[in-house]
Amino acid sequence: MSSYSIEVPLDDDGFIRRECPHCEHEFKWHDGPTDDRPLGEIDPSVYFCPLCGESALPDQWWTQTQVEFQEQFIMSHLHEEVEHGLKDAFRGMKGWTYKPGPNDEPTPDSLTEPNDMLIVQPPCHPWEPLKIPDDHLGPVHCLICGQQFAV
Ligand SMILES: [Zn+2]
Ligand SMILES: [Zn+2]
Repeated sequence: MSSYSIEVPLDDDGFIRRECPHCEHEFKWHDGPTDDRPLGEIDPSVYFCPLCGESALPDQWWTQTQVEFQEQFIMSHLHEEVEHGLKDAFRGMKGWTYKPGPNDEPTPDSLTEPNDMLIVQPPCHPWEPLKIPDDHLGPVHCLICGQQFAV
């Protein structure tokens, strides 16, 4: 099996859409820390949801749309792999030809990322800015340490 890298789009400010596995609300985090990160700071082992303050491992923040896109993407490539494999299997067998069927798994369109939500900057970790929904009321939690701050 080949491996494919699936591109998740960033918005114009360099933010990627995320969904909290606990409260299931969407927010965005920056694609990596900004240049302001002090030397010696490393990526944390868990991230905190800015909206509900719960923590989860870095790979648990995919939105439903991103998961569906990944599955579709993998399926469309899987189909191609199978076609190639069958062609090779039939090659060299006398009297046998293999006619590939139509590929009915369309390659999905790329995802796009709208420039929505408000940028907030945690005072404790300002090099990890976040975007939260415009209608979010109340305090926001820092992505890195979970500490609350007012916006
Ligand atoms: Zn949450
Ligand atoms: Zn913090």
